[in-house]
This record gives sequence, C-alpha cells and structure tokens, in this order.
Amino acid sequence: MIEKAEKILQQYYGYSSFRPGQEEAILHVLEGRNTLAVMPTGGGKSLCYQIPGLSLDGTAVIISPLISLMKDQVDALLSYGIAATYINSSLSAEEQHQRLRDMKSGRYSFVYVAPERFDSPNFLSALNSIPLSLIAFDEAHCISQWGHDFRPSYRSIVPTLKKVSNLPVLMALTATATQEVIKDIKQLIDVSEEDVVNTGFARENLSFRIIKGRDKREFIDEYLTKIPNESGIIYTATRKDADQLHYLLTKKGFSAGKYHAGMTEHQRKQSQMDFVQDEIKTMIATNAFGMGIDKSNVRYVIHYAMPMNIESYYQEAGRAGRDGEPGDCVLLFSSQDINLQRFLIDQSPSEEKKKDEYVKLQAMVNYCHTHTCLQQFILDYFDDPTAPEPCGKCSNCTHEGEEQDMTKEAQMVLSCIKRMGEHFGAGLTAKVLKGSKDQKVKQFRFDTLSTYGIMKGYTEKQLTRFIHFLTAEGYISTGQGKYPALQLTKEAVSVIKGDQPVIMLVETTTARQELNYNEQYFEELRQLRKRMADEVGLPPYVIFSDATLKELTVYLPETKQEMLQIKGVGEQKWEQYGETFLQFIRPWAENADSKPKPVRPSDASMASKKDPWEDRPSYMITYELWDEKSMSIQEIAEERNMSPQTIENHLFRSAKEGKDIHWPRWFNEEQEVQVLQVYEQSEDRKLKTIKEQLPEDYTYSLIKAVLARHHLK
Ligand code: ADP
Ligand code: ZN
Repeated sequence: MIEKAEKILQQYYGYSSFRPGQEEAILHVLEGRNTLAVMPTGGGKSLCYQIPGLSLDGTAVIISPLISLMKDQVDALLSYGIAATYINSSLSAEEQHQRLRDMKSGRYSFVYVAPERFDSPNFLSALNSIPLSLIAFDEAHCISQWGHDFRPSYRSIVPTLKKVSNLPVLMALTATATQEVIKDIKQLIDVSEEDVVNTGFARENLSFRIIKGRDKREFIDEYLTKIPNESGIIYTATRKDADQLHYLLTKKGFSAGKYHAGMTEHQRKQSQMDFVQDEIKTMIATNAFGMGIDKSNVRYVIHYAMPMNIESYYQEAGRAGRDGEPGDCVLLFSSQDINLQRFLIDQSPSEEKKKDEYVKLQAMVNYCHTHTCLQQFILDYFDDPTAPEPCGKCSNCTHEGEEQDMTKEAQMVLSCIKRMGEHFGAGLTAKVLKGSKDQKVKQFRFDTLSTYGIMKGYTEKQLTRFIHFLTAEGYISTGQGKYPALQLTKEAVSVIKGDQPVIMLVETTTARQELNYNEQYFEELRQLRKRMADEVGLPPYVIFSDATLKELTVYLPETKQEMLQIKGVGEQKWEQYGETFLQFIRPWAENADSKPKPVRPSDASMASKKDPWEDRPSYMITYELWDEKSMSIQEIAEERNMSPQTIENHLFRSAKEGKDIHWPRWFNEEQEVQVLQVYEQSEDRKLKTIKEQLPEDYTYSLIKAVLARHHLK
C-alpha cells in the first residue's frame, strides 16, 4: 500500500521522501483507521490527506474554518492536475449550485468546505449520494473546547456528520494541540491511541534569535539591505509603529507593504495580495496579519517588539519557512516592550484573565533572557512529547558573535546618568559621554561633568546602542512618563561598585543562507516564475517553491530525466512548466565547468530515511573538520566563516553528543574541580555567576568546556 503512496509522492508532487509522520499518518488512513495527525506548521499535513484521497476511490471532503486558504489549496491541487474545488460563501449562489452538482456527479477528487456547509440540506444530500474516500478536519484544534481558537459551530457538525450513510474514514489535522486538545479530538471523532501521529512541534528549519541592545531600525535597515529580495514579515506591537516603520523603509527604497486593523478592508486585501504575489518583499504588520495566509516562501519573521505570550510568538514566527527551507526568526527585544504589554493586559476587565496573561507574559520575558536553547525553551513550554535536543542554531546555541567584558564602559555610562540627575533620555546621555558641543548639553552645563567626553572614542550611535543594551539587561529603567528618562536600577548600583560584571554578546546581523546556490540564477528564475504566475493568475510559489528554484540553479538540469530528479518536480509540473524552465537553464549548464548530481535515496524503501547530507547539523561539520582534518579552531572559523566562539561551541556540543574531545586543551584537573565546585554552589547556575566566583584567568571557554564535559550546560 505504501508503495502506491510513494509513487504518488514522486509522480504528482516530485518529492522523493516523506517528512516525519507523513508515512505513518497516510498508512493509518489507508487502512481505514480514523487518524489524528499533529505536525508542526509546514510539516506537510496536506499530503497526509491528499495522498490517501488520491489512492482511495471516491471524493475526499476537507473541512476547514479558514475560507481564505481554500482557494490556495485548490489551486495547488489543480496545478498538479488533480480535480479539486471549494464550496463556500465567497461564491455566488449560482456558482455554489454548479459546484454542488458537479460534486454529485463525482467529478472531484477533493472538495473543500467550511463547517457552515453542514447546515445545508443540499450539501448533506450530495454527501449521502456519492462514494467518499475520506473526510478530513483541517485546523482540528478549533473543534476542541480546550483549543485556543475554539469554534463551537465547527464542533457541532460532528453529530451531523456521523449520520452520513456512507461515512468514510475520518482524519483530523492540526499544528497546535495540547494533551487536553488531543484527548478531546480523539473522543470526538473516535481515534484510538495508536492512531494519533504526533511529531511534536519542533520546526527544524527555523533558527530563533534574540537581539538585545541594538537600535531596532538600524538593525532592520542592515538586515533588509543584505537580503532585499527575500520575502519576510516584520511584526510591530502597534499600528503606529507599523505606519512609521513602513514610511521609513519605503522612503529608503525597500519593497515593503503594511497591514493592520486601521486600514480599510480593501487596502488590507490589496496589501496581502501584493505580498502573496511577491509584488512586495517585506510586510510590516500588526498581529492582525497572518491568520489564513499560506505563503510558503517567507524567509524571515522579525518581531519589532516582544509579543504578549509565547503562543502568539510561535504562531507568528512560525509563518517563516513553511516550505521547509531555512527561516530566520528574530526577536528585537528591549525592556520597554514589557511595559507596553503590561499596559495592554491592564486594559482587560477580568481580573482572572489579567492574572493568567501576566503569567504568560512572564514566560515570554523569560524567553528573552534565557541562556538555554530557544527552540528547546519553546518546546518545553508546549510540553512537546519528543524531548528535543538543543537545536544547535538559535542565538543561544551558537553564541554567534563575541562575548565582551563591558564592565568598565557600563560604569562610565551609569555614573554619567547618575550625574545628569536621572532625568534624560539615551540621546542626550550619549552626547554627554561623547563630549558633544550640542546646545542642550551646554544649556544644562553637562560639559562641566566629570563624565563629559569620557567615551569620546565611540560614536553617538554606538553609545546609544550600548545604553539600550544596558536597559535591556535591566541596569537602567526608563520610567513611566511620556519621555523616557533613564534611571538606575538596583543592579546598576552593583555594577558601579564593581560587584557585577557586564558581559555583552555582540551579535551578527546576517541572515542564514544554507544551501550554496547561485544567487544570480535564482533571481532570474524567480523573475521567470513571477511572469508565469502572473500569466495564469497563481501565486508564484504554487508553480515551484524557492527550494526547487535553488536546486535548479545548483544541478542545472538539461533533460526531462534530470529535471525530474529535482525536489518538487513531478510529472505534472514537468508537463506544465518543465520546458520553459529548461530553455532558461540550458545555456547556464552549457557554460558550467561541471554539474553536481542531486543526492537522492536510490532505493524506494529507504525513502523515509532522511538524506544524511541534507540535515547534517552544523556542529557535526565542525567536528569532522576538527577530528578528521585536524584543523585548528581558528582555521575552522575562517573556513566556515564563523567566529571562533561558535566553533568552540560546536565542539562542546559534539562532546555532549558523545564525541571524543581532547580536554587538556581547555583545562587541567585542578581547574576542572574548581569550576565544578563553584557550579554546584551557584544559585542560578548561569555562566556569568560562575565566572564571577572564579579567578580572573578562568575564561568563559574554560568554564564552558568543563560544563560540556560533564553535560551540565
Ligand atoms: P502544513 O499544512 O503542515 O503547514 P503543507 O502541507 O502546506 O504544511 O506543506 C508545507 C510545504 O512542504 C509545501 O510546500 C509542501 O509541498 C511541502 N512538502 C510536503 N511534504 C513534503 C515532502 N515529503 N517532501 C518535501 N516537501 C514536502
Ligand atoms: Zn538552540
């Protein structure tokens, strides 16, 4: 049975292997067992009902509460040459009738409907009169009263449905389900324990990053400048921020649109369409944007401010990388964000709700300050069943950038703030530290302070950025008034006294790009795809995904046979678009010195195993260079274009995974014992705390190495 499914996977979709959970879910459905599939966004849930729908006789009915997604799904199926349609309230009564008649004649393999359709006697009679292959509940968490998007009308169709005379196998699919929700769905549609396929919520292609102490606008400017052609979303906390940022970015010439509830429905629709059609690259939006948008090639999601809870954060950030290609999820944190969220929570009339929201907010704040793996932190929060390992690529796992001891600089800034009377903002403080001749500096006679000009080696911009960092770290608070006035906190006092060091991690801005593809060719293929998409009125990624285009630029196929080897190219796509693309690619191939061959599992029974090269974690690559090629940390850092710290962290990670490491390079026995003792006695077990209690020459590297050897961090 599974052979047939594999054939369909290859023939229609052009994929050579299943993603985790897909094969299992498909098998259960094919065996006629009601199945619940819990898979992360972008995990490939659609295939789990589409492949059984194609293998079994009859029509598959897909119920989805998100009307806006139906058209996309249907377009995608049609592009594979599969007969599909949707029936919902966006159509005229005439069209609805026509499609219903066609459905009754058995014309469709797939019919998408909203839950309301079950109130229609006509629809029910159609259901009862044709053979059905399966019925699937998409976004199934909405049928559970424990789900955060509970829709009573969705739940209420279940009893009606069960009266259908030729009831086929049922399937439920969702990306968010707590244990309670799972239990509820199981009961509701009779799924037995063995037929729950739960792959957890991890999104392995996403890298999470938290950036503190940077000027947010400057960060975004640099970021977009580096990847102006990639598609991404920037979430702001308020409409005002969205408007301002949009104004600034478009003024600078970036291709950006905006979306928030203050715009008219028409404006919002237009904006959303521009984004989906790749007319604009960056969408700047409030959290009003995203529900029901299925754009698979979103490469980054930047949060301009911290959201209210981890649920929203993961949902919004999760809109990156639905196509399985790398997605960069960046949260720009500043401590003012917390005040804003508190303020929003305080608007709620219900005390109980407020309390609940505060607890969730605290978890969000903890996420921003945690030293553990960010992916792990999120999954723990959701009680993920898979007990995940550290991801190896979030900003905490990689510690990309340099750790710098900034204690002395922090003392200068803090004492300057104190001397200025704790009444002024970051801008003026930076001017004083820089020794600026600004009017305002003179007016307040700040040029007579002992801190005037003590940091003149820095630019004002760097100083402001550093002040933001100190604020994010909790050494400075910004007061409650309309204009933020910098004030020292308790922690600041310990810094000034020399009791507490200030360590700053200088992050890099680069977005990750993992596949070594040809950017220029990619750009040309992307334009070709856009032209073709416009011609047929489809979103570009329905033609081919970004991943497919990237592979095309690497493997440069010249024949149909070679083209079918490319991920995402099946018979149908070949028929429709193959030649057009080949014509484009052939001249490149002719000019190329050599062409690599796609590495694909050759034996079909191996198909569900992961391609070892595709998913090899970064730290393993480092370890191999270290172990097999005996390269030094410095050499590997240069070769891989990463910082030595990152390389070192990779090695420690490898050690934790059981690889051999020659430890004397980092510490001797006496140092090891001492670090362990301090670790045991420290309260919070944070690196910083441990370092403070050890002699000067115990570097962070040394401490991290000891902890890695003993699997302590
Ligand atoms: P979900 O509904 O779980 O969010 P989708 O079904 O929309 O995810 O799938 C996300 C993307 O992954 C789609 O572009 C889809 O074509 C692709 N995909 C699904 N299954 C596979 C597979 N086995 N191999 C490669 N790509 C896949
Ligand atoms: Zn991580």
